[in-house]
Amino acid sequence: MLSIHNLSKIYANGAHALDRIDLSLQPGAITAIVGGSGCGKSTLLRLIAGLDRASDGAIRIGRETISEPHPDIGVIFQEPRLLAWLSVADNVAFGLRDRAKEEREALVANMLAQIGLSGYGARWPRELSGGQQQRIAIARALIAGPKALLLDEPFSALDMVTRQGLHQQLLALWAARKPTILMVTHDVDEAVLLADRIVVMRSNPGRIATIIDNPQARPRDRLSSSSERVQREVIAALDRTMRGEGERQLEAVGGWW
Ligand code: ADP
Repeated sequence: MLSIHNLSKIYANGAHALDRIDLSLQPGAITAIVGGSGCGKSTLLRLIAGLDRASDGAIRIGRETISEPHPDIGVIFQEPRLLAWLSVADNVAFGLRDRAKEEREALVANMLAQIGLSGYGARWPRELSGGQQQRIAIARALIAGPKALLLDEPFSALDMVTRQGLHQQLLALWAARKPTILMVTHDVDEAVLLADRIVVMRSNPGRIATIIDNPQARPRDRLSSSSERVQREVIAALDRTMRGEGERQLEAVGGWW
């Protein structure tokens, strides 16, 4: 469905953000990317979103190669990025400008009901809490029915209780539509709760270190022994990438002496 082939990105300053990444996302699956700071997670998402150009390789949706923002791919960032001068309803409707007014209004009302914000359509974004604003951002990204959804640390600015509520809401929206989801997170607990596969990345250059399957049935219990087992596996993989990173840095300076 969404596939990445031999993708590399070297920035003008020489930073080797991604080195020959290959990854195929199964239709309707949720994949999480974890890894230390600077391993290329955001770069990978930005390239798939068409917000930046790769140095080499290709990104495909189905058989189509993409290099610009694609209507079948929705994006959600860490901060909601709502348009302050539009009402909540108009923000949600932003991707539906080509639809007839009645259809647009019906879709927006339905979407607001699904995220528990019926009756908020006439408000301004600034009148909503951070968690509510992020729900609107999710609604805006999903309303046009994208085949894939990219999320870049979408819940990291929120407190734990709000974050857990949003996890459940995202899962409910995903279950109703089954978009293919690729999300970056630094939260191992979140990755194990949400994702079917967890891609662990390492840096300098940014590469996939390992991919961990998480076949647990849903709904999942973040405190179950099976969740804990996968969490440990991910943490151990992250530790290995960090150790490798430390050793590579030492080699680069010729050891301790
Ligand atoms: P992550 O999201 O995993 O923290 P990034 O994708 O932001 O990693 O960055 C990967 C590498 O690319 C880092 O070395 C970072 O400094 C570099 N980088 C990211 N964005 C830019 C940019 N716009 N210009 C130059 N270097 C960048």
